[in-house]
Amino acid sequence: MMTGDEYQQLMSSIRELLQAQRSCSCGRLHQTPTQQVIIAPGALSQLPEVLTELHLAGAALLVADANTYKAAGHVAAIILDQDSEDVRKLLIEPESGQSDVEATDEPVQIVQREAEGCEYLIAVGSGTINDIVKLAATRLAIPYLSVATAASMTGYSSGIAALRCGAIKQAIPATPPVAIIADIDVIASAPTQMQAAGVGDLISRSPSSTDWKLASLLRGDYFCPWIAQIVDQADQQCRAVAADIHSGDSQALAVLTAGLILAGIAMQMANTSSPGSGGGHLISHYWDMIAPVRGRTRNLHGLQVAVGDLICAALYEQLWPRLAEIDLDEVAARRLPAKEFARQTRDHYAPLIGPHAAEEVAEVALSKYAEDEELHSQLAALLDKPDKTWSKLAPLFTPAEELRRIYQKAGIPCTAAILGISDTELVNAYHFASCFRDRYTVLDLAYDLGLLDELREEVFADARVVSESTAQ
Ligand SMILES: [Zn+2]
Ligand SMILES: [Zn+2]
Repeated sequence: MMTGDEYQQLMSSIRELLQAQRSCSCGRLHQTPTQQVIIAPGALSQLPEVLTELHLAGAALLVADANTYKAAGHVAAIILDQDSEDVRKLLIEPESGQSDVEATDEPVQIVQREAEGCEYLIAVGSGTINDIVKLAATRLAIPYLSVATAASMTGYSSGIAALRCGAIKQAIPATPPVAIIADIDVIASAPTQMQAAGVGDLISRSPSSTDWKLASLLRGDYFCPWIAQIVDQADQQCRAVAADIHSGDSQALAVLTAGLILAGIAMQMANTSSPGSGGGHLISHYWDMIAPVRGRTRNLHGLQVAVGDLICAALYEQLWPRLAEIDLDEVAARRLPAKEFARQTRDHYAPLIGPHAAEEVAEVALSKYAEDEELHSQLAALLDKPDKTWSKLAPLFTPAEELRRIYQKAGIPCTAAILGISDTELVNAYHFASCFRDRYTVLDLAYDLGLLDELREEVFADARVVSESTAQ
């Protein structure tokens, strides 16, 4: 049994969400297919109870990889065997030449094939295994349970599966698990880098929600204040225990796990990942996409997101004081015409991901390109009264310096070089990461105002993401 205020508050928020069907002032009906979440030491032993409670019976397929089977899969299998459940096991192996399993269509199809005749699936793992099983269960139209092995990301409870399709990583809508079992004894024995990544992903709610609100103010995108408030709660509780997470305190790990799951459910209920996936995430996705080209292994998502968020936070801080002086007519006259903008995007991406995928990216980028008149209507009010817009963003925003303090407490490396990312990749991500997702962020705003380039050095200096030795 866990005590502690932060943990109790997060668990009660999770329980409220699981039961609620909320007709919200944002115009959407918020609800979740997730029915049960257990976060506690020894939680694996509650698996049979959960199955009974959710009326799950008949044949099941338990899916893991070699690491996650060792971490929790074999214990889960023993518990289920003792309870006479009919559970088969499937260990997913990395593609030949790879050291880790990657979420692509192939393993999803393997799970679909092996699950023939099964009533439900059990995913034992974190990001990759969970995404593979989530998508397979969605395609088979059967429920799945998620057994968490690390507090590394918000994806357990989210309504999407991140799948690499060719060179591009796509966020595919998928049905979330009916139940999530997070055994804190298992999570505590995961590599500490995974928990640091979890903090990076969870703290990203603040910069991401700022982008989310920005998109709603400037482009009229959907925004829900209720969801923003829930993810903010998860973020704040986690900040309070960042140092204890780093030292492996199990209470603090339970807070982190609950925060990640709460934020994931909130995003799922909003039916968009915008509350937790802004400009910093796009930067991270860019690095993932080009990792194979650069011949380096992918970093943990949350660690890259942390560096990306430092950049975006510093960009907000550099950008805002300049808004009052901007002449929009001058901006419009100076900027690249749409065709040229698309060509530049294509030219950058083609050597990295091939001409076909680069064409797709250019199309997405073009869909965000506002023609002159549209640009005026989007930005006139902002440039007229930047303080007024800022007063709406400020409650969501965290300054770069403060983000850095939390990251340091949580043991997150704050420069790209430590993650094996070169200065060129850093610069390219800053310029081109916003192109491949139809999501408006501060990177787009700075680009539209013709300031992205101009502010780069100041932004990198403030964000302090360049390694000391190479800093200008
Ligand atoms: Zn709402
Ligand atoms: Zn994320």
